[in-house]
Amino acid sequence: MLILYDGIFVTMDEERHIYQNAAIVIEKNRMIEIGGAEEILENYKNHDCSRISCKGKAVFPGFVNTHIHTAQSIVRGVAEDLGRAPSYTPTVPQGDDLSDEESYVFSLLGAATALRFGSTTISDNYAHAMINAKAFETLGVRAVVSERVHDMIFSRLAEGCYERDVSLGEALLEKNVQLLEKYSNPKGRITACLGPHAPDTCSRELLLKVSKLSEKYRVPITTHLAQSAMEITRVKDVYGISSTKLLEECGLVNEYLMGAHGVFLQDEEIEILSKNHGQIVHIPEGNAKAGSIARIQYMKEQGLNISIGTDNGAANMIENMRMALVAGRILNHCVTDPSPEEILQMSTIQGAKALHKDSEIGSIEVGKLADLVVIDYDRLHLTPCINVVGNLVHLGLGNDVDMVIVDGEIVVRDGKVLNINEKELMRDARRIAELKWLHSSPGLNQKYTYVF
Ligand SMILES: [Zn+2]
Repeated sequence: MLILYDGIFVTMDEERHIYQNAAIVIEKNRMIEIGGAEEILENYKNHDCSRISCKGKAVFPGFVNTHIHTAQSIVRGVAEDLGRAPSYTPTVPQGDDLSDEESYVFSLLGAATALRFGSTTISDNYAHAMINAKAFETLGVRAVVSERVHDMIFSRLAEGCYERDVSLGEALLEKNVQLLEKYSNPKGRITACLGPHAPDTCSRELLLKVSKLSEKYRVPITTHLAQSAMEITRVKDVYGISSTKLLEECGLVNEYLMGAHGVFLQDEEIEILSKNHGQIVHIPEGNAKAGSIARIQYMKEQGLNISIGTDNGAANMIENMRMALVAGRILNHCVTDPSPEEILQMSTIQGAKALHKDSEIGSIEVGKLADLVVIDYDRLHLTPCINVVGNLVHLGLGNDVDMVIVDGEIVVRDGKVLNINEKELMRDARRIAELKWLHSSPGLNQKYTYVF
């Protein structure tokens, strides 16, 4: 049993309660009581339990990061400037170039970063998903995993050419099914979903197969949707319709759909999503760095559930919250909308809803799983704190995360990821990155400052 006491608790429950001088009692992996700190400490004084003071700190529901490719942490700091998603980009290391062991290391790196910055749940989609899931088990992060399913050959895409390989699609789909079978317990810390990569990298036949599996397994479907001009043009050229229309025709637009990006969505596509309860994952940082941004305000007005994902790169949900707020206000020409509270909602309870886990995670409520983030407000840049949510979204840094609890287990403490040796992980990642980058991009050391 574990008691957190004396902090500010930002619950994100239905009434959006924020409690001061409160306490939470955690038994095994669930929150069993929330109340005044004094009363709870008194009631449990004879119980054998750990007590952690959260004085000067605020406790939030763990952030739900609904779209990430942890192993793509290998392209950090370079891919952001190449103008295309890494999978479409020549000269960067690709998932298919990584061995199982290498993919494990970079999944560990990406997920450890996400966890350290407060993501208690990640929805990870990439090559080698079965191996990547092992990395998430090691860390203790909650994860919804899926294989990156496609039947267009990525190495040809980099040359602007769509070449289909039917057997590739079947093999990847089979891997995704193996994940669904292995992680079939909906109460497990690791669960699985379906991961068709995008409307242009999956043929209609493959999308139809995914749709059939979706009817059978009833799990989230994570995909990229209206991510790039290349995708829009390709789908239009081949089918004469929009990406969303294609997915709808294949039976994939429903409450399970989590379409990431959505920066090129037309009004009629948003209408299709809205009518069928499809969902959008906003990628504020990744998109802004590529010079585009999704029309979140309009999507919200059309009733879409919007969550936030970090995609590749830093995996920092606090930074992404700020990007979502800033980009939203620029688009809206509005100095108050979206609000920090609304952005926090997207990062917690709406993310949980996107993954169909909102009855278990996404808010601090009795009976829910203990997935929590403790932020240290005893910092120069967070002083004074008049609005705890405002301070987090406007001013917070990833390093302000002091403690992370997943499923009742403390997995980050004093800002350190506990279940791994961080130094060893960084050493392994640097060693592999050097090999892979030199292989993928031999001219690298002439273009960039060459430091591993
Ligand atoms: Zn992505």
